[in-house]
Amino acid sequence: MKTAQKTEDLGQLPCLSLQGVGKRVAERLAHLGITCVQDLLFHLPLRYQDRTRVYPMATLAPGDHVVVEGVIENISQPVGGRTRLLCQLRDASGRLFLRFFYATAAQRQGLQIGLRLRCFGEVRRGSQGLEMIHPEYMLSQAGMIPQVDENLTPIYPTTEGLSQLMFRKLTDQALNLLAQGAMLQDIVPAKLLQQFSFPTLAESLSYVHRPPADAPVDVLMEKQHISQKRLVFEELLAHRLSMLRLKQDFQVQNAFPFEKKQTLTQQFLKALPFQLTHAQTRVTDEIYQDLLKPHPMLRLVQGDVGSGKTVVAALAILQAVENGFQCAILAPTELLAEQHYRTFQKWFSALQISVVMMSGQLKAAERRATEAAILQGDAKVVVGTHAIFQKNTAFSKLALIIVDEQHRFGVQQRAMLREKGLHENCYPHQLIMTATPIPRTLAMSVYADLDYSVIDELPPGRTPVMTTVISNARREEILNRIREACATHRQAYWVCTLIEESEVLQCQAAENTALQMRTIFPDLKIGLIHGRLKAAEKEQVMAAFKTGELNLLVATTVIEVGVDVPNASLMVIENAERLGLAQLHQLRGRVGRGAVASHCVLMYQNPLSALARQRLSIMRETTDGFKIAQRDLELRGPGEVLGTRQTGELSLRIADLLRDSDLLPAVQQAATLLQSHSSEVIAPLIKRWLRDSIRYGHV
Ligand code: ADP
Ligand code: MG
Repeated sequence: MKTAQKTEDLGQLPCLSLQGVGKRVAERLAHLGITCVQDLLFHLPLRYQDRTRVYPMATLAPGDHVVVEGVIENISQPVGGRTRLLCQLRDASGRLFLRFFYATAAQRQGLQIGLRLRCFGEVRRGSQGLEMIHPEYMLSQAGMIPQVDENLTPIYPTTEGLSQLMFRKLTDQALNLLAQGAMLQDIVPAKLLQQFSFPTLAESLSYVHRPPADAPVDVLMEKQHISQKRLVFEELLAHRLSMLRLKQDFQVQNAFPFEKKQTLTQQFLKALPFQLTHAQTRVTDEIYQDLLKPHPMLRLVQGDVGSGKTVVAALAILQAVENGFQCAILAPTELLAEQHYRTFQKWFSALQISVVMMSGQLKAAERRATEAAILQGDAKVVVGTHAIFQKNTAFSKLALIIVDEQHRFGVQQRAMLREKGLHENCYPHQLIMTATPIPRTLAMSVYADLDYSVIDELPPGRTPVMTTVISNARREEILNRIREACATHRQAYWVCTLIEESEVLQCQAAENTALQMRTIFPDLKIGLIHGRLKAAEKEQVMAAFKTGELNLLVATTVIEVGVDVPNASLMVIENAERLGLAQLHQLRGRVGRGAVASHCVLMYQNPLSALARQRLSIMRETTDGFKIAQRDLELRGPGEVLGTRQTGELSLRIADLLRDSDLLPAVQQAATLLQSHSSEVIAPLIKRWLRDSIRYGHV
C-alpha cells in the first residue's frame, strides 16, 4: 500500500503516491497541470456548495443550492414518456417537487410514497411550484438526525474522468499530510505576511479547500476571502519577481549600440509639416538614451490615440538606419501595416531610405525579390505583420524591432521576437507602442519587464470629439447628421458591430448596412471595408476614403486601430453597448484628427442595463483614455480594460489581474523588499508558481 511520509516535501511528492492515484488518474491530473501534491493544493475550488444544514422548504427561493429533507407525499408520471417522474416532497414547513426526466427503472421502483428523502439540488420555479430537477438524493430514516457536512463542499475545476468525489478524496489526503506537518514551505517571509495580516500558507490552503460551515460563502465565491487573497498575493508576487528577473537578464545581453547621428534626423524634421510636441521630444530622447547602450532596449511607449507615436517610431528608425542597421516594424493587421508602409515611404523616400512591405498577399516572385532585398540589406525598413517572423525571413543586420498597436503582446511574444532577432550574439532593440491606456498599476504588472514612456500630450489644434449617446430608435436623426456632415465636405464612418465572434456574420452585417446606406443616400459615395476583403481591395477602399473620393465608409471594427483620415469628422457606432470602453475609445480616436469639431454618436439598442448606461456616459464625459481605463476598471463591466487574452498570456493559475488589481501595489512593494532583503526566496517562489512557463533564452 502506498503511504506518503509526513516529512516529505509536497513540492517533490508526486500525486502517484496518493491513494487512489494510478497511472490513468495521474495522466488526467497532469492534464490540469497537477503533478505533485503541492500542485494539487494550489488547484483551488471554483465555487462551494453549502451542504452543512437542512433548509425548511418554506424558506426556499429559486436559485438556491440547498439540502432539504421531507417525506414523499405523492408521485405522478407527467406526460412525455415512461422515464418521467414527479415526486411531491413535504416537510414541516412546506413542499417541494422533485422532477426527473430520465428516472431509471431502479429509481422508479425505489421512490415510494411515505419514504423520507434527503436531497441536494438547485431550486427552480416549476409549473406547480418550486422544484428540483434531478436532485442528488438518499433515503433517510424518520427520527434520525440528518447528517450533514461539517464544511462547505468545494467544487473543483476538473476534466473528463476526474470526478468531484475523486478531487475531494485527493485533497483530503493532501490536507492531512499538511496537517501532519508535511513540508510545504512558507516561502514568503513571515514578517511580510504579518505586514498584510495574511494567514500562513497551510492555514490559507486548509480554509480554502474546506471552509467551515459558518464561512462567508459570498465572499469566498467572489474570491475575496483573506485566505484566497493570501494565495493570489503569492502568485502575483512570483510573477512580478520573474518578470523583473527577466528584465535584469535581458539588460546584460549584448546589442549593437547606436551612435547618436543627426544628418537624416535633421533632414526629416525639416521636411515634417509640424513641430514635435514636448512629449514626443521627451520620449524620443528616452529612446535615444536606450539606443546608445550596448544592451538591448526594451521600451513600451504608451500614447493615446492621435498622440503621434508614428513620428517617434520614425525617429528611432532613423538612428538605426544612419548607424547602418535594418529595422522591422510589426503591425497587428495588414491594413495597419499597409498604412505604415505608405507613411514611411512618403517620409523616407526623400532620404533615399528603402522601405519594403512583407505582406502575405505578395506574389511568389515579388516575395522572393523582397526577401532577397531584406537578406542583402538593401531594404532598410521592413514593414509587415507578425508573419514576418513566423515565415523565417532572414535579415542582413536587424538591430531594431518596433511593434505597433499591439497591446495583446505578452511576455512570450516579446521573448520570441528577441530570439529571432539574435545576430552575431547581439539582440535587437525593441520598441513597443500602444494606445491602450492601461492604468499604471496594471501596466506595471503586465509590463514589468519593460521600461515605460508615456506621450501624455496631443498635438496642438485638435478639438475634442463631442460624444452623444442615442437610442437606435432615433436612427432618422442620425442619418440626418450624416447627410449634413457630407454636405459640408466632411467624411463619416459608420461602424457595425455584432456580438458574435464570427467574422463572417460581422462582414455580412456591414454589407447589409452598406446596401441600406446606398439606398438612403443615392447621391453619396459609400465605401465598405471589412476583414474579409482582400488586402488590395481594403487598400483601395482606404485610399479612396483618404483622398476624399468616398463620403461615407461603412466598416467593421477592423478600422479600430491606427487608421488616420483627418477629414473624417463624424463617427456612428452601432450597438455601442456591446463593445468594451477601450475599444470604443480606440474607434472614436479615428475622428478628431483634424482641426474641425468632430462628433461621435454611440448608438445603443434598448433596453439598456444600468451598468451599460453608466459605461456609455463615461465615454460622453471624457476623451482621456487613462480616465476611461480607470473608470472601466472600477466598473468592471464586460468591456475589460485588458482583454482576457492579455491576462491569459501571463498564465496565472489562481490570480486574476482585474479582480485582484487591488493587491498590485502591495505586490510591487513586496517584490522590491524581497529583492533587497531576502533575495534567496526569489528563485523558490518563481519555481513554485511558474514552473517552466516563462523560460526563454538565457537559462
Ligand atoms: P497615433 O499615436 O495614434 O499612432 P499618429 O502617429 O497616427 O498617432 O498621428 C496622428 C496624426 O497626428 C497624424 O496625422 C500625424 O501626422 C499627426 N501628428 C503627429 N505629431 C504631430 C505634431 N507634433 N503636430 C501635429 N500633428 C502631428
Ligand atoms: Mg498609430
